[in-house]
Amino acid sequence: MESEVINLNQGSSEETDRSARKAPAPKWQVAEVIGVIAETPETTTLRLAVPEPTEFVSGQYYNIRIPVEGRPRPIQRAYSIASPPFPQFDVVEFGIKEMEGGLVSPVLAKKTAVGDTLEVRGPYGAFVWSEDKGGPLLLISAGSGVVPFMSMIRYAKAKGLNVPMHLLFSSKSAEYVIYSQELKDLEAELDWLTVTHTFTRDPGHPGSRYHRRIDKEMVAELTAESQAKLAYICGPPEMVELCEVVLIDLGMDPQNVYSEKYD
Ligand SMILES: Cc1cc2nc3c(=O)[nH]c(=O)nc-3n(C[C@H](O)[C@H](O)[C@H](O)COP(=O)(O)OP(=O)(O)OC[C@H]3O[C@@H](n4cnc5c(N)ncnc54)[C@H](O)[C@@H]3O)c2cc1C
Repeated sequence: MESEVINLNQGSSEETDRSARKAPAPKWQVAEVIGVIAETPETTTLRLAVPEPTEFVSGQYYNIRIPVEGRPRPIQRAYSIASPPFPQFDVVEFGIKEMEGGLVSPVLAKKTAVGDTLEVRGPYGAFVWSEDKGGPLLLISAGSGVVPFMSMIRYAKAKGLNVPMHLLFSSKSAEYVIYSQELKDLEAELDWLTVTHTFTRDPGHPGSRYHRRIDKEMVAELTAESQAKLAYICGPPEMVELCEVVLIDLGMDPQNVYSEKYD
């Protein structure tokens, strides 16, 4: 299944296109796996040392390709960068969710160890945030869609920024919340960060404000509470499309709605 990037914000695409014209096209390079962390039963953080890194912007992604038995060429997939570009961008972290029956993600999430090497190429993408875009921000994610938002939040913390960010994060249950402890710690530490969970398969769990899939009412409530001027949506295509419509119906400028579909 191939990957697609949707971005309603043309300004952002143009910026990235301009910088892409100046910067040499990314090339495949061999990165060493220097860290493997099991985040949830199905999601794993891979930390890679990239030998010839290009500075990236939070929200961007790399392509990773691996050889697959029976396929004449390596198979590539896109993976968002979870780490911040500051203070260093030569070590890049990914959050890979194992998709049952998939060609690439089960190998990355379950069969990759420290010392292995992976072919990577990047960074890519116009789904980006840095301080020049301002806020307040509403970040809407389901499952591994939280990955680029970790880069944005970690970046804002590393830079000492003070831009309000409200993360709405849909997970199956508490056990499946990626970056669970880090998000709790960050929310306790940072005045500008609010994290709202919704658990779709854990009715009544006290750690979650909502217990259903992301829907119109939820997005409307959190848009009002966060007073968001910008929204970023990342995850399964149906969820992303629903949120785009809701946010624009609520009056948000389409130029301020950024979307990334993982399909
Ligand atoms: C910009 C971008 C960033 C992304 N970032 C991340 C990220 O940070 N983390 C992350 O986990 N994912 C991310 N993704 C998704 C990722 O790129 C892959 O799509 C995902 O990992 C699945 O790849 P796969 O090779 O394992 O599965 P695939 O081989 O693509 O299969 C996907 C699913 O389709 C099913 N399938 C395949 N072939 C068939 C068939 N013939 N009939 C029926 N079913 C079939 C498989 O069983 C599997 O469930 C991102 C996608 C995009 C576009």
